[in-house]
Amino acid sequence: MTVRVRFAPSPTGDIHLGNIRIALFNYLFARQKGGKIILRIEDTDAERNIEGASHKIESDLKWLGVAIDEGPFFQSERTKLYDEKLFKLIEHQKVYRCFCTSAELDLKRKKYLALKKPPRYDRTCFVFSDDVIKQKIEAKLPFIWRLQLNHDAMVEIDGMARGKTAFELKNFSDVALTRSDGSFTFMFVNFVDDWLMGITHVIRGEDHLTNSALQAALFDAFSVPLPTFWHLPFLCDAKGKKLSKREPGFALDDLRTQGFLPQAICNYLAILTGTHAQEVQSLQELVQNFDFENLHGTGSIRYDNDKLRWLNHQWIERIAQSELVERVRPYLEKAYPQSTKLSDEKLGLLVSKIKSDLETLGDIATALKFYFVEPELDDAAINAETRAEISGILDRYKEQLGDPEVFVKSVQHTAKQEALKAREVWGYVRYRLTGSFDGPSVRDLIEMLGAQETRRRLGL
Ligand code: GLU
Repeated sequence: MTVRVRFAPSPTGDIHLGNIRIALFNYLFARQKGGKIILRIEDTDAERNIEGASHKIESDLKWLGVAIDEGPFFQSERTKLYDEKLFKLIEHQKVYRCFCTSAELDLKRKKYLALKKPPRYDRTCFVFSDDVIKQKIEAKLPFIWRLQLNHDAMVEIDGMARGKTAFELKNFSDVALTRSDGSFTFMFVNFVDDWLMGITHVIRGEDHLTNSALQAALFDAFSVPLPTFWHLPFLCDAKGKKLSKREPGFALDDLRTQGFLPQAICNYLAILTGTHAQEVQSLQELVQNFDFENLHGTGSIRYDNDKLRWLNHQWIERIAQSELVERVRPYLEKAYPQSTKLSDEKLGLLVSKIKSDLETLGDIATALKFYFVEPELDDAAINAETRAEISGILDRYKEQLGDPEVFVKSVQHTAKQEALKAREVWGYVRYRLTGSFDGPSVRDLIEMLGAQETRRRLGL
């Protein structure tokens, strides 16, 4: 059996860590099992669709490195297939027309809830005679198609993290397959496509657990074998509450703007549960190592932004210099427009010296501020005598600034002879060069600023 999985977002908004996690699991599973991942845009709910959202999803997946094998397929272009399948159900009398209005349905639901019974549709329309149905159709009363569930049946759904869950269909309303405007419901088209696209594993969020149960009933209605359903637990905040879309650092755009790397985001989402001998893993490594057989977890997976930051830092340290340069440029250019003039080589040098201070790409603006904005110095920060003494030594060796290594050694040597503390000397130099007493090594600073600028800032 060739594994076929799908990522099936609705184009109703921007994607966030919750969706990405689902896409990623599907991707890792497909790659590990030598299967295929399909992108399906579930755009049948015209009212909720957002213009441009599907393109955005595609480019986001690309940015993340989650490569799709087939698609995107758009459900809005597949109506004919859904028509055909519905027709089959009509032909085999597995469905019936329901003329109940939403107000009527609402009332019924409330009544059942008040009686502490499952708010199941009472099949008012199921028992209509052919004549009554004919009259209603002639009177142009809107209706929906419902699948008649076998209320004596049970379905069992495998929930990856939570084991098997059994559902008694007697608790459910007959499934609505269409809306009163004639369009198809999510429940139906999602099922038809999983079937026709040969999906072997439906890996989705646990909010779809009951949908899976009802879709299992649809598979049964057509006597086709069920795919394996896997449900991933929600991502929760520190308090164990399901993460809301408004949570800062949850939307992909938000994370990208702050300067999180795709490698870190994928890595983080993949290692969020379970124990991993090695935490920092590339997509390729995850494809190899991810243990789908022993997935376990609880109902709540905590989102920990600090851990994500830590991983982001690990990835900033790991990616090739050329990639890092390309990725930090926009942040730098926003903060210091003059940085556009820097060659890749020069920027590579600057970045290599400060990347140990970066948690996000956005941190570059602070880390390299001294380079672009000359520091404002406060003479009172260092006592005048020491200042004069140190300046004297620096002045003696200013011609050596072209070779920072040599310069630093000479200054160090002389400072020692003159009983000056190294910490004081280099603190002073660093202060003059950057406005701060700590930061990169002086050798690095000279290399970054260049001999001429160093001399100028040191007043030599
Ligand atoms: N389009 C639905 C969603 O985004 C379906 C997901 C699924 O079946 O996996 O929630």
